[in-house]
Amino acid sequence: MGRALRQLSFWHDTTPTDWTPRPPLAGDTDADVAIVGAGYTGLWTAYYLAEADPSLRIVVLEKEVAGFGASGRNGGWCSALFPAPLPRLAAMSDRGSALTQHAAMRATVDEVARVCAAEGIDAHLAKGGTIALARNRAQWLRAQEEVAAARAWDRGEDDLRLLDRRGAAAVLRASDTLGATYTPDCAAIHPGRLVRGLAQVVERRGVRLLERTPVTAIEPGRARTPRGVVRAQAVIRATEGYTSALAGYRRRSVPVYSLIIATEPLPDSIWDEIGLQRRETFTDHRHLIVYGQRTADGRMLFGGRGAPYHFGSRTSSAFDRDPRVFAKLLATLTDLFPVLDGVRVTHAWGGALGIARDWCASVGLDLATGLGWAGGYVGDGVSTANLAGRTLRDLLLGGDTELARLPWVGHRSPQWEPEPLRWLGINAGLRAAALADREEALTGRPSVVARAMAGLTG
Ligand SMILES: Cc1cc2nc3c(=O)[nH]c(=O)nc-3n(C[C@H](O)[C@H](O)[C@H](O)COP(=O)(O)OP(=O)(O)OC[C@H]3O[C@@H](n4cnc5c(N)ncnc54)[C@H](O)[C@@H]3O)c2cc1C
Repeated sequence: MGRALRQLSFWHDTTPTDWTPRPPLAGDTDADVAIVGAGYTGLWTAYYLAEADPSLRIVVLEKEVAGFGASGRNGGWCSALFPAPLPRLAAMSDRGSALTQHAAMRATVDEVARVCAAEGIDAHLAKGGTIALARNRAQWLRAQEEVAAARAWDRGEDDLRLLDRRGAAAVLRASDTLGATYTPDCAAIHPGRLVRGLAQVVERRGVRLLERTPVTAIEPGRARTPRGVVRAQAVIRATEGYTSALAGYRRRSVPVYSLIIATEPLPDSIWDEIGLQRRETFTDHRHLIVYGQRTADGRMLFGGRGAPYHFGSRTSSAFDRDPRVFAKLLATLTDLFPVLDGVRVTHAWGGALGIARDWCASVGLDLATGLGWAGGYVGDGVSTANLAGRTLRDLLLGGDTELARLPWVGHRSPQWEPEPLRWLGINAGLRAAALADREEALTGRPSVVARAMAGLTG
């Protein structure tokens, strides 16, 4: 069991933890709050609730083990990114509230660091920010537009800035770089250390964490499992990319796979050529997202989308590994950094993240039913799940706080289309993004394909 879990990802392989599952639920029980899923969302919620009111009886029910899902497998960007842009958040509320949410996301990066320090979680956290390269003229145009748009939202140089070729090269030396954008609001982390550290901390605070306990139904006042029922005033759904497997939630969010490769530890001579001295996370301005980080032990970790969406929103361990996508990731990585040609890839893995129909993450609590939720982070969940945890605490404790009034709170995304439309639409979108990147690399002009897709999807 432990061995199989260690093989899930580089992070699982290198987290100093005992993977032996904790005991499962043993019959019916009562609680004040039942949380379904022990990733960041579930564990941060449990953490802040237990901190605010140590007398609460909190039970976390996890199908596998804490950190089995995306929280144990991700790219390790603890960023201020939120999947819905500011104009969308403003349309859901107003300009001031959208900016308050942006400020809350920025503060969340520091909040994660604060708790790690306070609780003794060594998540290899380094707040070096993020550099996003522009490697053709179309990407450079997008980079400039992004900074201009940020200024129109009163976001200053301390938030997002444009780097020219030399400025970019001072941080990261990749091929064909014309310039970059840079934000200080991101910390590179070891996701496995964070999620397993959190699991230990919440247990120390009296939370009951029950592993190998799949929830088969979430209902007002109860979470049903094959091992018994947990009766609770509030039941929180924290299952992100796995949500569509729950009865009643099949079209609420779709699981999209993101895949990652990690190299052997690289010598200083290679890092001197590449850069990332402060462990800045990196990406570029292409459409089909790629992301990377320099790990604390000197590996290059590089991930991206591009794996197909699977019919019926299915998730399976068989989808975690796709040799075709791994080969593309390696080709892209060596295109960025030719010095990496021939380095050994020691780990390759993937996992499912959750996407809502309108690509807007949400958190909420229905006071009438006691059912709460958070998720749909579209690959920005490392920090957003922390904000979700604090927000759920406030909602559950009835406080009318600034966090509880943020625009994403209580937002209801529309349902996804039924199959086969869902499968056709998502996979067409993934293909179009890859095509748009090829087109822009060839022409240097903003992609016609991307514009047509934006017109279709709004
Ligand atoms: C490869 C990859 C790279 C990513 N990179 C980044 C990144 O760099 N930065 C970033 O911000 N985000 C990133 N993300 C997204 C981020 O990891 C997720 O948004 C975040 O971890 C979601 O946390 P969660 O707790 O909501 O979900 P998860 O971590 O997926 O946890 C959900 C848990 O629920 C359990 N579960 C599912 N069904 C049931 C059930 N029926 N009963 C009980 N338990 C159940 C699962 O086993 C799982 O442990 C990435 C995701 C992936 C897959």
